[in-house]
Amino acid sequence: MDDKSHKAKETVEVNRVELDEHYQLCYGITLDAYEKMVRDRKGTCDICKCINKGWGVPHRLVMDCTPGVQPPEIRGLICTRCKMMIDMLDKRSDWVKACLDYVDAEN
Ligand SMILES: [Zn+2]
Repeated sequence: MDDKSHKAKETVEVNRVELDEHYQLCYGITLDAYEKMVRDRKGTCDICKCINKGWGVPHRLVMDCTPGVQPPEIRGLICTRCKMMIDMLDKRSDWVKACLDYVDAEN
């Protein structure tokens, strides 16, 4: 193994350790458990069933938790687009409903 590929492998290992700590601290699960959840869904969003992509590159699915519940209660894994909408629904459901009513009135 040359020096460059050795450093790349070390970086991946460090990132995995940091990600594992992040998932355990924020969601109470290990990185391995997160990756199993992703495999169980075949990498697709629980809502729209897409594979999460940004700039054409697959991204990690986002952990979605029930708001205001501690310790975190995982609702599912979703793409970043659906996460933005779910956050809006959780925080501004009246405004989202008014938007839907507006769109429905136009049709
Ligand atoms: Zn989605």
